[in-house]
Amino acid sequence: MTAITELKPFRSHDHQHCLDEAIRQAEQRCRSRGERFTRLRKQILEMIWSSHEPVKAYDLLDRLKAVHPGSAPPTVYRALDFLLDAGLIHRIESLNAYLGCGVPGSGHSGQFLICRYCGSVAELNDDRAINELHDMAGALKFRVDNMVIEIYGTCERCLKESR
Ligand SMILES: [Zn+2]
Ligand SMILES: [Zn+2]
Ligand SMILES: [Zn+2]
Repeated sequence: MTAITELKPFRSHDHQHCLDEAIRQAEQRCRSRGERFTRLRKQILEMIWSSHEPVKAYDLLDRLKAVHPGSAPPTVYRALDFLLDAGLIHRIESLNAYLGCGVPGSGHSGQFLICRYCGSVAELNDDRAINELHDMAGALKFRVDNMVIEIYGTCERCLKESR
């Protein structure tokens, strides 16, 4: 896969477009997998896509409760499992939070640029870096199951504002 650098999260842009596009891709992806994109799954995905900042499961639960009082954690976790499995979202391990994927279903493991100041996260997917790390692990006879790279720093916008 070619490198994807989605810098939108760090720039001002029409976010409604990101949201619409994410929902459209999710509908398509579920259809091609023969799975139902239920109202709940859609609601959770929309909540995750409300910004480019990762969202924690309990925040999703709070927001869900505002719409459906009586929602319980398993409801949220089941929907998250579905979305993860379908490749529609990523889990940011170091933040224990979830982020919408801009290129769902392309089978990438995920490299993330995480801004410490505004909390926005951009995906960076570059096979070269991943392959190199796989080779290095392989040389140490280490079998890699999962590789998620989370890079912390300051985004373009926050850098400008701090000047
Ligand atoms: Zn956006
Ligand atoms: Zn992704
Ligand atoms: Zn920032």
